Amino acid sequence: MDTHAKLQLLSDASQYDLACACGTGNSDRRHRGSDGAWLYPVSLPGGGHSVMLKTLMSNVCVNDCGYCPYRSDTDNLRCTISPDDMAKIYLDYVQQKKVFGLFLSSGVTGTPDRTMEMLNDTARILRTKHNYKGYIHLKVIPGASDGAIEDAMCLANAVSINIEAPGERRFSKLSLKKDYLRDIIRPLQQISRFSDESRFSKVKKTTQFIVGASDETDSEIVRYTAGLYNRLKLNRVYFSSYQRGLGDSRIPGEKQELKRSDQGFVREHRLYQVDFLLRQYGFEESDISFDRDNNLSLDLDPKRTWAQRHPEFYPVNVNRADKLSLLRVPGIGPETVKKIIQLRKQSRICRVDTLPMVRKYREEAAAYVSF
Ligand code: SF4
Repeated sequence: MDTHAKLQLLSDASQYDLACACGTGNSDRRHRGSDGAWLYPVSLPGGGHSVMLKTLMSNVCVNDCGYCPYRSDTDNLRCTISPDDMAKIYLDYVQQKKVFGLFLSSGVTGTPDRTMEMLNDTARILRTKHNYKGYIHLKVIPGASDGAIEDAMCLANAVSINIEAPGERRFSKLSLKKDYLRDIIRPLQQISRFSDESRFSKVKKTTQFIVGASDETDSEIVRYTAGLYNRLKLNRVYFSSYQRGLGDSRIPGEKQELKRSDQGFVREHRLYQVDFLLRQYGFEESDISFDRDNNLSLDLDPKRTWAQRHPEFYPVNVNRADKLSLLRVPGIGPETVKKIIQLRKQSRICRVDTLPMVRKYREEAAAYVSF
């Protein structure tokens, strides 16, 4: 295979790795570049958007993750791109102004550190040989040593390692070869420790859950998510609905559905809503309600669920309430709160129709506010 054919294969393969909020649905804005590689519009962990070349360095893998089409026992065409070739391909895209960032991941070829060396060497070639100053996200391979992680954090703007499942028991349903504490949690903790050092203060750190692959409940995911933010100080946690039809018989329901289900998609969406409540709305883990099965409601979003369960909290007086109280009003988000605070400095807000928000949300908020 020539390098471009390899890139097409490997960037196709990376669609299953969504730890940078890349979309894969038909309606998203990803498109193929001239090499056939997928270019992804992405949300960056520090805010803002970019277009990235996202690819694996290799789809050869010694591991056995039940949800992954590239686990070692599947019959797939396999290939690897060298660091020199990957750096060259990427720079071609940059020079054509088609991408503004690189997201590199890989199957595990040999050992985790041998694989990390390929990723790190690509970044090193770009940084030192070509003086590239732009965005690089490097995936930390499960089981990577502290030295390999440190090297990645010296070279990258962002690093990530996928947590995949909330806890050892759930994780053991996904892989018999990877050890949750040794290969996932220890590197996550090490990334967190390194980021306390001033030299790494600007390196973003993220992780991702695969939702629906290990029979896990939403309450378990939310508990772990809160811990990842509060204890390990991660910048972002991502959630990717498991795409049925790709995994092996260990995955619950694998044989029942052949593609990403609507329900899985709504579940992923609800988890993102909780994530926003935890990060931007002042909600605590204990504010999130679950049904009898310990899952989030698929019918009602988590903020409205909280509002329904706490009628005593309302109405919130828009002229006097503090920021966190305003954020508890359904329909009101952080941007609207800023506008309300600005507006009430100028004059008293007297009517719902003068609230600085679009009509749909204003109508929703009306039942929860006073003046
Ligand atoms: S480590 Fe697991 S998820 Fe990653 S390529 Fe290998 S089998 Fe797939």
